[in-house]
Amino acid sequence: TAMIIDGKAHAAALRARVADGVAGFVAAAGRKPGLAVVLVGEDPASAVYVRTKTRMTAEAGMAGFEHRLPADTTSDDLLALVDRLNADDTVDGILVQLPLPAHIDERRVLTRIDPDKDVDGFHPVNVGRLATGLHGFVPCTPLGCLMLLRATLGELSGLEAVVVGRSNIVGKPMAQLLLQQSCTVTVAHSRTRDVAAHVRRADIVVAAVGIPHFIKGDWIKPGASVIDVGINRIAKEDGGAGLVGDVDFAGAAAVAGAITPVPGGVGPMTIACLMRNTLVAACRRVCAAEPEL
Ligand code: NAD
Repeated sequence: TAMIIDGKAHAAALRARVADGVAGFVAAAGRKPGLAVVLVGEDPASAVYVRTKTRMTAEAGMAGFEHRLPADTTSDDLLALVDRLNADDTVDGILVQLPLPAHIDERRVLTRIDPDKDVDGFHPVNVGRLATGLHGFVPCTPLGCLMLLRATLGELSGLEAVVVGRSNIVGKPMAQLLLQQSCTVTVAHSRTRDVAAHVRRADIVVAAVGIPHFIKGDWIKPGASVIDVGINRIAKEDGGAGLVGDVDFAGAAAVAGAITPVPGGVGPMTIACLMRNTLVAACRRVCAAEPEL
């Protein structure tokens, strides 16, 4: 049976390395790296994410600036806040929590963020940097997935990688990262004719679909590494609520070489990578050497 990839432990180790780097930054720059998190409206899941991000920021020794705006905030008011954060020298990273309320143009807001403070990596300039192999910011979830794969497999060159899902947040940047590692990359999506046939060839499977247990155990090639990005809330038989991934964990774990659990796999790495990106942004802004993270 598969080795379970302990995302919690990998994330804790990464956060510890970031905290070391932060201490070095503070000693050199005389201030803390700063992360501004903007939340518009009262979406309960988003509120939980923002609270966790702010707590982890403080635990890493960085300054967290939380901006909570009412759900009826106008695009212009939000853009004005982004402009102020862009101009604020104590702010190294800016994160606007998604989704934004429907009346706000998400693209316009994300494009307004200074690309060098765009620690989520969603600005088109950073998307282009990733695609062309320039230093930029890589979205936290796929970056965390790549770190787990490198820690598990070492060299990825030549491996067959199948990414299921093509979102701008996970699937597409994941495919770019695996290509950069010299994998042979296939991206499967909602219009793919036979997803199972593609997954059966894969040495690496990354599932970012958003459908509980979409990937079946008998699709997995024996020994493959399986990274499950999905976070799906389902009703359990005992009446409670539970979190499950996009992969049938029990079925896949019986044949895979390694697999991430949900929860405790990719999720914790996402937030640790946000801390990493914020430290890197701070180091780049004061022209300090970038720590190896
Ligand atoms: P999304 O809804 O934007 O994209 C889903 C993708 O799945 C689409 O590209 C679509 O083409 C593909 N898809 C849908 N139905 C399919 C089918 N039948 N066959 C093949 N492909 C199909 O979602 P997302 O933002 O990429 O997130 C995916 C999942 O990952 C969600 O469960 C989300 O909650 C989770 N997520 C987790 C983290 C984390 O930190 N662990 C971060 C982001 C997203």
